[in-house]
Amino acid sequence: MSEPTMTADVIVIGAGIAGASVAANLSESCTVILAEMESQPGYHTTGRSAAVFAPSYGPAGVRALTRASRAFFDTPPEGFCDAPLLTPREILMIARDDQGAALDALIETASRDTAVERLDASGLQDHQPLLRSGYASAGMLDRGGQDIDVAALHQGYLRLFKKRGGTLLRNAEVLSLQPDSTGWTADTKAGTLKAPVVVNAAGAWADRIGELAGAETIGLKPKRRTAMMVPEPAGFTRRDAPITIDIEEQFYLKPDAGRLLLSPADETPSDPCDAQPDEMDVAICADRIMTAFELDIRRIENKWAGLRSFVADKEPVIGFSTQAEGFFWMAGQGGYGIQTAPAAGRLASALVQGKPVPDDLIDHGFDQTLVASGRKGLAA
Ligand SMILES: Cc1cc2nc3c(=O)[nH]c(=O)nc-3n(C[C@H](O)[C@H](O)[C@H](O)COP(=O)(O)OP(=O)(O)OC[C@H]3O[C@@H](n4cnc5c(N)ncnc54)[C@H](O)[C@@H]3O)c2cc1C
Repeated sequence: MSEPTMTADVIVIGAGIAGASVAANLSESCTVILAEMESQPGYHTTGRSAAVFAPSYGPAGVRALTRASRAFFDTPPEGFCDAPLLTPREILMIARDDQGAALDALIETASRDTAVERLDASGLQDHQPLLRSGYASAGMLDRGGQDIDVAALHQGYLRLFKKRGGTLLRNAEVLSLQPDSTGWTADTKAGTLKAPVVVNAAGAWADRIGELAGAETIGLKPKRRTAMMVPEPAGFTRRDAPITIDIEEQFYLKPDAGRLLLSPADETPSDPCDAQPDEMDVAICADRIMTAFELDIRRIENKWAGLRSFVADKEPVIGFSTQAEGFFWMAGQGGYGIQTAPAAGRLASALVQGKPVPDDLIDHGFDQTLVASGRKGLAA
């Protein structure tokens, strides 16, 4: 027997952090079906991040969305989570002598809207005692950095969504999208769905979903990034040390609950898929980390990879399609999708309902044209 057709005001495709945040916001005033192809929401990129809130990271639109997200992280709604979503974690960008120009450029851009500090070699050592002496000569410290409890944020949104009457369908891969005079019909592995508006929050698959809808391409490029956990060295006492990142993003190291999270900060182009770590990237990571830090990596406890999906200008794409009526993009979150989720979810919810950009986003310097579909420079 075939499944009955379900109807709603909005279908959201993808229950990662992007889909969960917009669905929770929309469900305050609309009926919403959230369709997820996996049995576990968060199985793809959302469950594989480094969990950092970095105000100085990313292009201007991302930085504004990050600033506008801070209030939600600090004061989520009653009952959203049991523990704080953020824990302080300084961010230290380090530069060797030959990377001085990259450091100057980053300080120049970041200091336009974030309080950052330049450090010399001894300042670096004070903040990051694992740094190999003589490796880096200067750096930039962002004291506004935080660790994010990603699972609590994601589960909080899914709980809020359900509490507001939203329907989450798992194992509901969207297979086709058909427009008609009343909106969209989506055939999924869990039955047929109908709604006037479809929100495409399908992560690395977003351009594929756009194709199903006959929308414009946004030129989305999924890029694989590898991460791994190693034991902290014997006698290590600085679990509060900053996440330490090469200024040209060639590696990073972050203390993480008694272990060290390492990444070669790779950006290998990939098709949308269940990304897996490549042994070569793991070896490159160990080599770069042991060059920059006093660390002997003998045992890797855990390793994984995830897809960070970017359009050409690295800003997200949040807005209605220029070609397919009632089809809304919520894509291209790149390496910033967790830290921007609270503001991006509210923005998308407002725009889907034909409302203006929320005032507080504008107060934080957010410019909607930076994230609109059809903007100049979207596809390379
Ligand atoms: C190693 C690494 C480190 C990172 N570190 C950080 C960080 O420190 N801070 C930060 O803010 N960000 C970080 N990111 C980026 C962040 O994780 C992403 O920007 C964010 O998770 C993207 O969320 P999403 O919901 O768009 O994608 P996803 O979590 O991938 O969700 C998309 C969902 O769509 C579903 N889907 C796809 N196709 C269909 C279909 N046809 N039908 C139904 N469902 C479908 C998928 O199953 C998936 O669940 C990192 C990423 C990686 C890989």
